[in-house]
Amino acid sequence: MNGILIHPHEVGEYWCSLLERSGLDCVALHPVGGKLAHQSLQELLDYVKTPEFKAFASRMHAHGIQVEYEFHALSWLLPREEFSRHPHWFRMDESGVRQCDFNCCASSQGALQMLEERAALLCSLLPRTSVRNRYFFWVDDIPNTSCHCPECSRLSPSDQALILYHHILRGIRRSNPEGQLAYLAYENTVQPPKTVTPEPGIFLEFAPFHRSWEVPLTQEGCIENAGAVRQLQALLEIFPAQQAQVLEYWMDNSMFSNWQRPYGRLSFHPEVIRRDAAFYHWLGINAITSFGCYLGEEYARDYGPAPVDEYAAALGAVPPAL
Ligand SMILES: [Zn+2]
Repeated sequence: MNGILIHPHEVGEYWCSLLERSGLDCVALHPVGGKLAHQSLQELLDYVKTPEFKAFASRMHAHGIQVEYEFHALSWLLPREEFSRHPHWFRMDESGVRQCDFNCCASSQGALQMLEERAALLCSLLPRTSVRNRYFFWVDDIPNTSCHCPECSRLSPSDQALILYHHILRGIRRSNPEGQLAYLAYENTVQPPKTVTPEPGIFLEFAPFHRSWEVPLTQEGCIENAGAVRQLQALLEIFPAQQAQVLEYWMDNSMFSNWQRPYGRLSFHPEVIRRDAAFYHWLGINAITSFGCYLGEEYARDYGPAPVDEYAAALGAVPPAL
């Protein structure tokens, strides 16, 4: 599987044509995260009901391209408004105060039950536009936002995240019994879980945020990339490589522009992508995607067409005969 993540508001004729001729076989819609993640997810849920989305999904289907959805879901799954009635559902910070800003308490049965119920609802609201039955309902990615209550303090941030994912998966399976859920290994959760074992249906999604994209992961002498490789190898001792998926940043123009407008020209290194993809395949990972945010029409106006075809070719994707 070779894919790309784009923002829902960029979907349109321009991206449809790019995707159809690229040879990529998966596109994921990625509403923006951060403090307003629940709002941008709600906008996605409204968007997928529109004729515009249905036309897009149908064109992708006709070209054998799976349409998936990847987003930070915690604040939608556990609405922050519940804080006044159920403060113990939410995380305790290091000074012992409950906070409703991000994530939640992984030891609160009430919170876990709510996650399960809302995950079932969320799953039912997303049209089934991929045969892979893969779901990406991520926890919040803000550093140091795990729970420090007496029960959770025994658990690493990765253990806490995996507990949340187990309950989210149970909810998903109420709506789609074939559903599988990503454990997003990124920032706080890049270390393997220690005391919690992944249940069947959880697969690894590895997003190497702290690396250099100027040189391949396997470049000798690159300390950052060697660190990312070690993290991935440790994760693969827990999660099977055959089911794992990589979420790269090779095409993430929002990140290369430091998430600030005006966006610059994408720093594109096809040889790095080619060598990284070969390394991931060598490890046994065959599902590879990258963020591809802000490479749409606006980008084309400023810098010419984004190198989506070249990205797909670097992954080894074969474009359809025209
Ligand atoms: Zn807790």
